[in-house]
Amino acid sequence: MSHFARVARVPGDPILGLLDAFRADANPAKLDLGVGVYKDAQGLTPIPRAVKLAEQRLVNSETTKTYIGGHGAPEFGEHLLRLVLGADSALLRDELAGATQAPGGTGALRLAGEFIARNLPGRSIWLSDPTWPIHETLFATCGLKVSHYPYVDASNQLQVEAMLAALAHVPQGDVVLLHACCHNPTGFDLSQADWRRVLEVVKARELLPLIDFAYQGFGAGLEEDAWAVRLFAAELPELLITSSCSKNFGLYRERTGALIVRAADSNKLTDVRSQLAALARNLWSTPPAHGAAVVASILGDAELHALWAEEVEAMRLRIASLRSGLVAALQPHGLGERFAHIAAQRGMFSYTGLSAAQVQRLREEFSVYMVNSGRASVAGMAEQRLEYLAAAIARVCN
Ligand code: PLP
Repeated sequence: MSHFARVARVPGDPILGLLDAFRADANPAKLDLGVGVYKDAQGLTPIPRAVKLAEQRLVNSETTKTYIGGHGAPEFGEHLLRLVLGADSALLRDELAGATQAPGGTGALRLAGEFIARNLPGRSIWLSDPTWPIHETLFATCGLKVSHYPYVDASNQLQVEAMLAALAHVPQGDVVLLHACCHNPTGFDLSQADWRRVLEVVKARELLPLIDFAYQGFGAGLEEDAWAVRLFAAELPELLITSSCSKNFGLYRERTGALIVRAADSNKLTDVRSQLAALARNLWSTPPAHGAAVVASILGDAELHALWAEEVEAMRLRIASLRSGLVAALQPHGLGERFAHIAAQRGMFSYTGLSAAQVQRLREEFSVYMVNSGRASVAGMAEQRLEYLAAAIARVCN
């Protein structure tokens, strides 16, 4: 008897499949706009200098590799809370918010999903349409019912009115996932006025927001990107936030992030955190230590903190200039206006508005790799390749 005979094969992650195809492509002009990692002008995903310096210090100062606690390293949690909620947040002074360290933003989302599934039975989770595909599978894996609210329509426009109208009909008490900034996959973010309107609906329907904060520093700036998170944390007594250090600290493989809980009083916060620690114990026992130690030593040192903030800002500005550079390169092809949204979007990704057929032609004829949805990773572009890319886009659009 074979125990595995009935195990069927499932297709691999389409984005990773794209990466394999890119690697196998012998065309020297190839361009990878698929995978969501930041790349510098040399096409490398660098380790920030602040991270390298912190790691060197850690090699000398670390005395043990014993387990860290269920909530992770306390100093990591404290620094991350200040980064996300603001250094002078009253919530921290009043002990109304706490961080539970998790393996990356994905781990934090999984912990949130498990918490909702077990501790808030009967609640569905509402995701933007479209959203990061892992949101769909991750929450379903937790056993949650996944529903959607409109966000970007087929004509590639942000649909704020439709979003608000849909949220107004979400059953009372359900969970709504919101992207804090740099919406993945579209790059379309809500304005401050839009966020205020979403907040009103959330209050009216008594929804529980789960804010996914994976790109702090890549939109308008480290503090600016936290604006909506801080508004919601100030205005709502209960809130879940997932924070990822993968992109802004370049710590992708170190799996560094946290689930932040805001509760109405410190007693209830302790109750919720006790549940999170119990859930985490069955998921990963205790979280990986290295990335969190790096983050804590950067944020806890004025010099390293300033260096890191400069490096995040440089990444942000480079992506913004690639966005406007691509639109400028499309101009001579008569496509500047059609693709003007690329310059207005934020973060690593852009919903270009290219169709699946156009994406396929870009891949086959020009070795330009992007996801079939027309999502391009702007951070994967290079200044000196923008004219090539614009010419390729022009060919498939005409
Ligand atoms: N949330 C969103 C929207 C993302 O795009 C990502 C990464 O691509 C994550 C969360 C989680 O990132 P990680 O688990 O690498 O920290």
